[in-house]
Amino acid sequence: MMAPPAINDSAPRLRLAPQVLMPGETISSLVDRQASLWGVSRIDLMNQVDPPSALGRRDVDVRLPLDKFLDHYATKIGQTSAALSGALAHYGSHIVFMSYRNAYCPICFFEDAASGYTPYFRLDWARVFLTHCRQHGCPLFPWPKTAPSGFRRLPHQWFMGQGPALDDCPQFMQDLTLAKMYAYGIRPKTPPSIDAWRRVCHFEEWLYQRSVGALQICEQRRGVSSLEQEVVHRAAALAQSTRLHGRLKLEGRDGSFEEPRVMTFVMDVGKERADRWLELRGFRSIAKRRALMYATSFDFMDV
Ligand SMILES: [Zn+2]
Repeated sequence: MMAPPAINDSAPRLRLAPQVLMPGETISSLVDRQASLWGVSRIDLMNQVDPPSALGRRDVDVRLPLDKFLDHYATKIGQTSAALSGALAHYGSHIVFMSYRNAYCPICFFEDAASGYTPYFRLDWARVFLTHCRQHGCPLFPWPKTAPSGFRRLPHQWFMGQGPALDDCPQFMQDLTLAKMYAYGIRPKTPPSIDAWRRVCHFEEWLYQRSVGALQICEQRRGVSSLEQEVVHRAAALAQSTRLHGRLKLEGRDGSFEEPRVMTFVMDVGKERADRWLELRGFRSIAKRRALMYATSFDFMDV
């Protein structure tokens, strides 16, 4: 008779416990983590919770009037809707479109997994005016396992306590390597790209400190509107010009960057959008949105 398999005490990070909202996490991230754990899609899980929400493909990260999804969802996961509502964006206009909301920091994910948590998406990463991780000083990257609907699938091994390295997702490992090089100051290498990268981080932090493009109502947002309107106006005008030219034109400056995956000035040609915020929310590529932040910064910062 065979001996029963030994219980593996070295896997204390197995995530069978209920997944709870982490600090700064979005509701869609919690939904995606639970859906990944159950092996279903986000829409499937939402359909189980509240069919009308899934039919309408509701943006579960934005506070909406008469939205019953959060109440139903909170009940199903044993929490109160008040505990979840603090994670919602109050300004739907300041958050990237749901289907494009896949920005992530590889170093944050690595640290989450190494600490025994399932990696999760932060609300800050969904801000239109933020393309870098403020904690690690590296670019945010598009999560490679994102469905067209915006569902971000998480690998099974992150629920199984097998550590942060992903054997079956080389893109994550590449993103992690590149992010670390930015965090350690090894990249970018060429002086023009170093200047461009520093300028983007500096400008985004400057906006962040002034609550420009903030997602939630806060004390600091009093009096912010005029600066915010100026930034949005300028950024949207630049974005609209790219729709004609297929390129973000910089007056008298070199529009190139050593790592096109991080920043690219080659844009999509298409129709203009009527709404300024819509123009900014509709960037599928974070590398293109980052270039737009770079171009916009010259109207607001001299250094
Ligand atoms: Zn980070």
